[in-house]
Amino acid sequence: MKIYLNGKMVDEQNAVVSVFDHGLLYGDGVFEGIRAYNGRVFKLVEHVARLYYSAKAIALTIPMTQEEMIKAVVETCKVNNLRDCYIRLVVTRGIGTLGLSPKKCGTPQVIIIAAGIQLYPEEYYTKGMSIVTVPTTRNHHNAVNPAIKSLNYLNNILAKIEANTAGVEEAIMLNSQGYVAECTGDNIFLIKGKQLITPPLSAGALYGITRGSVIEVAKEGGFEVVEPNVTRYDVYNADECFVTGSAAELVPVTKVDGREIGAGVPGEGFKKLLDLFRKLTRSTGTPIFE
Ligand code: PMP
Repeated sequence: MKIYLNGKMVDEQNAVVSVFDHGLLYGDGVFEGIRAYNGRVFKLVEHVARLYYSAKAIALTIPMTQEEMIKAVVETCKVNNLRDCYIRLVVTRGIGTLGLSPKKCGTPQVIIIAAGIQLYPEEYYTKGMSIVTVPTTRNHHNAVNPAIKSLNYLNNILAKIEANTAGVEEAIMLNSQGYVAECTGDNIFLIKGKQLITPPLSAGALYGITRGSVIEVAKEGGFEVVEPNVTRYDVYNADECFVTGSAAELVPVTKVDGREIGAGVPGEGFKKLLDLFRKLTRSTGTPIFE
């Protein structure tokens, strides 16, 4: 496997970064998780834009333009001859000293890995998954803003550990006001009648690209999209629930905190949205081999 590392395609075993890189020492950096379907990188422009927004928010200047980054992602898929893959794009603060100061770091390191990923067992997609609400709250906007896709994921990892302790793989994280924000690595949706409900981004969710894609196709599916503040009561009493992410794609949720959601099986609304989402992933995107 060839990895893109600072402008060069290097063999996997030579794709290494310094132990003084602040991405490793402090989680100081930003990243993206992207998918390619059928020879096209899905929503690549949007993912790269989000990467640069995250970088701006942490005052990190990425040493290449967005156009160059788009080309580098496509090239990484191409040299590995991948038509369907998961792409991890990482930009670290760079090599610094033993001390927090980002001023002492050299050039940011740019890493692109194109490989595979399977977040959840196959049966979650067909039968639905069970999730719980966990005590660790989503970061407050005045701390590490949840809109920043930074390399510091410890807050979400703590929530993931709490989910695992409860015997499940994903968890609802509330914000500091007690409203549903999102999950540890996925956005959350509810269906109630003809309404497709998802917490507003201001509730502390990542500006999910898959979330945006589901909203994009929802009208076609006959849904009215609303973004109110959501409480656990709303989740328990929804007809359907599902989570979204580039790695996870769309996963039906059939149980939350021990309560069955709707009929306790993946619902018709979810299936319709999944179908529309799949059509979108296979008909759009940046071509790899042209
Ligand atoms: N929320 C969090 C916390 C995430 O890490 C992710 C990405 N894994 C998502 C939501 C989903 O975002 P996207 O659809 O852009 O992958």
